[in-house]
Amino acid sequence: MTDSSHTLPMDLTNHQQIEALGRRVLAGGQLEPPDVHWLFELRASADVYDLMAWANRIRERFKGRRVQLCSIVNIKAGGCPEDCKFCAQSAFYQTGAPRYGLIDFEPIRAAAAEAKRNGVLSLGLVAAWRGLGQGPLLDQVCAHIRAVAAMGVSAHASLGLIQSQAVADRLKAAGLVCYNHNLETSERFFPKQCSTHSYQDRLQTLHYLRQAGIKICCGGIIGLGETRADRADLALAIRQAGAQMVPLNFLHPISGTPYQHNPPLPPLELLQTIACFRFVLPQADIMVAGGRVVNLRDTQSLMFMAGASALMVGNYLTTLNQPVEKDLQMIRDLGLEPGQHGDPQPAQATDTPQTQPVAVAPAATPA
Ligand code: SF4
Repeated sequence: MTDSSHTLPMDLTNHQQIEALGRRVLAGGQLEPPDVHWLFELRASADVYDLMAWANRIRERFKGRRVQLCSIVNIKAGGCPEDCKFCAQSAFYQTGAPRYGLIDFEPIRAAAAEAKRNGVLSLGLVAAWRGLGQGPLLDQVCAHIRAVAAMGVSAHASLGLIQSQAVADRLKAAGLVCYNHNLETSERFFPKQCSTHSYQDRLQTLHYLRQAGIKICCGGIIGLGETRADRADLALAIRQAGAQMVPLNFLHPISGTPYQHNPPLPPLELLQTIACFRFVLPQADIMVAGGRVVNLRDTQSLMFMAGASALMVGNYLTTLNQPVEKDLQMIRDLGLEPGQHGDPQPAQATDTPQTQPVAVAPAATPA
């Protein structure tokens, strides 16, 4: 039995406590912070498998068999003035990652067409820069968003910090459906990752997005050297932010960044992280994004049993992914179905009043 201060009687076994928390979530209840920390702190592999079994039931109940697919295109690469230590695109580090300014529409059109061919009806436009204010850059981005939407593809974006409510409102008016802005890690650990902007800056951007009525995609990156408590607090902060899509990235150490020698985390610990996020955010789509192939290795398909309900397909921003066809085959082999933006939620979830339709979202951390 694990010692903790969570909200259940202490004479229960871990198995009984996981079951009690799982049943609470299935019934539409919410976990309290001490419960969340307790789940993240579980260490025994038997407990983790138990946790995954319940996370799988929660995923089935609230998300059904559909796996939402997301794809991205980098519309401005490298040379970012921010110093996020995990990121290949920061100008602070010599990583050899591509560098180019805001691209024309043609490559975006091609990416949208390819996404459609793969059955992915959303495209995230991602830019490596500090963020967006009013001005010609915003005008160009809005034009790109309008053009993507005109192709019948849901336009999503990950464009860094938003400087004002007016900027968020302009993106919404251009037809933006969903915006990715990750909190990355806990508020406590964030200053060790980045010194050029603050956690508060990120929360403020999420506030502008909410006010504008843009769907929020907000996740983080695991493997930075954070504690399990940091992961628990990240999950709670994302719940607080009202995220509907939650991308989880697993650090893929990039040569030239401060984290180039970070050791990989055990795959089972990453699966546990997915499962814990599923417990905390039962109705959100938990998306496994960057670093999945290199970190999960042969356990990759277990991510769905751990509670994942969305997948980044196609290449990431600076690293390669496995071919889309292989991902689609994996999904079908597991008896799951590739989902589309706007798909209805599963019938078995309709008896739960909190269930809301959610959208496919764009990329996660540009790393
Ligand atoms: S994570 Fe984003 S803000 Fe940070 S360095 Fe990379 S591109 Fe810039």
